[in-house]
Amino acid sequence: MKRSLPTSIVGSLPKPAWLAPPEKLWSPWKLEGEQLLEGKQDALRISLQEQQLAGVDIISDGEQTRQHFVTTFIEHLSGVDFENRKVVRIRNRYDASVPVVVGEVARQKAVFVEDARFLRKQTTQPIKWALPGPMTMVDTLYDAHYKSREKLAWEFAKVLNEEARELQDAGVDIIQFDEPAFNVFFDEVNDWGMAALEKAIEGLQCETAVHICYGYGIQANNDWKKTLGAEWRQYEEIFPKIRNSNIDIISLECHNSNVPLDLIELVRGKKVMVGAIDVASNEIETPEEVADTLRKTLAFVDIENLYPSTNCGMAPLSRTVARGKLSALSAGAEIIRKELAV
Ligand SMILES: [Zn+2]
Repeated sequence: MKRSLPTSIVGSLPKPAWLAPPEKLWSPWKLEGEQLLEGKQDALRISLQEQQLAGVDIISDGEQTRQHFVTTFIEHLSGVDFENRKVVRIRNRYDASVPVVVGEVARQKAVFVEDARFLRKQTTQPIKWALPGPMTMVDTLYDAHYKSREKLAWEFAKVLNEEARELQDAGVDIIQFDEPAFNVFFDEVNDWGMAALEKAIEGLQCETAVHICYGYGIQANNDWKKTLGAEWRQYEEIFPKIRNSNIDIISLECHNSNVPLDLIELVRGKKVMVGAIDVASNEIETPEEVADTLRKTLAFVDIENLYPSTNCGMAPLSRTVARGKLSALSAGAEIIRKELAV
């Protein structure tokens, strides 16, 4: 029987120092060629083991085989020049050096499918794979070809759908699309962002998730959060649209955030990955703190739809802190299972 309150992480875990220098984003690989391929697979095995030791129910790849959750996918597409990069402002918040769209985008070959097959072979537990969402992709590059965010998002959605179908066939149980941009560009979400995401999940039989957060715990995001006031009501703008979509699971930032949890009522009926671990702090939550966040959200999510998780990826944290947080997540979920005898 499937366990109640199945735990999972949003996506990334820190990489081993021999693979890429830890505690930074876009960390460069330390290996190359065959050694890099082998190193990535070894890191994937370690990330699996760490999740299993912590008692995590739905396994992720820890994003050990990608440098970044958006740009790595984009760099595998044709029509994109990733050597002559441009600096753009991401989510109206911070500058980053990103690839440039120079022609029609297309996926010549699978991006993560081999990695997913590899992970599938290592475990019988359900596995979840994250892909960037179309809107967040559009927001993480410079477009010198389509000159329309909507048009480009639509093209990316088609490409993502091809990849998602192959991931599904490789045995992935849940495909998650990361859309932090949904928390910033509400009008666009309602105009075309959600439609593009629906295009990306078209025809999939496996479960689908959308992850919408307030970003990694990096300085630019932390500074932005300070400007959002006492109540973060961004989710309110987009939840009605998501509730009416075909997405099965919504992954949200809940712990240590100013999101009023009653907003989750707006997506009642959907499964909710409740972020009960703060990824912007090195302090490891106590199991009781995790349980407290889960308990509060239970007022707005039916228990069979509650999936305890992290607020966002843990890539920028130290490995020790990330391990501690994984264990706290499991222990916190266990408190609620015992309390409610579920
Ligand atoms: Zn996130």
